[in-house]
Amino acid sequence: MYMKTREEEVIFLKRLWNKEPTPCPKCGYEFLEFLHKKAKKSSTEWKCPHCGEIFRTINMLMDLPEK
Ligand SMILES: [Zn+2]
Repeated sequence: MYMKTREEEVIFLKRLWNKEPTPCPKCGYEFLEFLHKKAKKSSTEWKCPHCGEIFRTINMLMDLPEK
């Protein structure tokens, strides 16, 4: 998890899926970009251009703790 709570993590995931500008939770850089810029089909994988962290939203969803 990148956020402190499950709720915050879900909000973070939803922002990415909605393609909203989302700051990097690791370094605070102002927005993440698609990992595969040319692949129109996939908006599930994101990368921070500043620190290089990769966010695979499907994995993050699977790793969410149970309520
Ligand atoms: Zn970053």
